Amino acid sequence: MDDKVLQDDYSGHAVELLKSRGVTLDDIADCARYLQADYHVDLKAGELLESVKKVIEKREVQFAIMTAVELDRLAEEGKMHDKALENLMLHDAPLFGTDEVLAYGICNLYGSIALTNFGYIDKKKYGVISRLNKAGKGTGTCTTFLDDIVGAIAAAAASRFAHRWQRD
Ligand code: MG
Repeated sequence: MDDKVLQDDYSGHAVELLKSRGVTLDDIADCARYLQADYHVDLKAGELLESVKKVIEKREVQFAIMTAVELDRLAEEGKMHDKALENLMLHDAPLFGTDEVLAYGICNLYGSIALTNFGYIDKKKYGVISRLNKAGKGTGTCTTFLDDIVGAIAAAAASRFAHRWQRD
C-alpha cells in the first residue's frame, strides 16, 4: 500500500491490523454468534462471517480499527506525547470511556440493536474480548481501544444478521 495516496478501501489493511493484534474474523464471528445464540440455537460462527466482512467493508469501521490499533500500540510502546493519556490507557482506566465512544461510531451504523448488543458483550466479555481484556491488565500490552472495537464489530454484525433474518 502506498501510504501517501488515499485509498478507497482499507478493509484488507484493517483485517491485517486486527490479525497483527491477535484478532481474526473468525474470532469476531464467534462473538456475533454468541449474541444471536438465544434466537438461533444451532447457529454456527461461519454463518456470521459474511456479516463481519460486510461491517468491515464500511470505511468508518476501517478508520476506527486503524485508530484503535495505532493508539493502543503507541501507548504500549511508550510513544505517546501525552503521558497522562498514555497512563490512562495503560491502566485501562474504568472511567476513561473514550474507547467506548469510538466503538459507538460502528454501532450507530447498524441501529439500536447494535448498541444494546455492544453493551451486552462489553459486560459479558465473551471469547476474544475476554482474551483481549485479560491481555490488557498489567501485562504491558495495551488493548484499551481494541476490545471495544472488536465488541462493536461483533455487535454490528449480529445486528445486521438479525435485520436480514427478519426480512427473509
Ligand atoms: Mg476498552
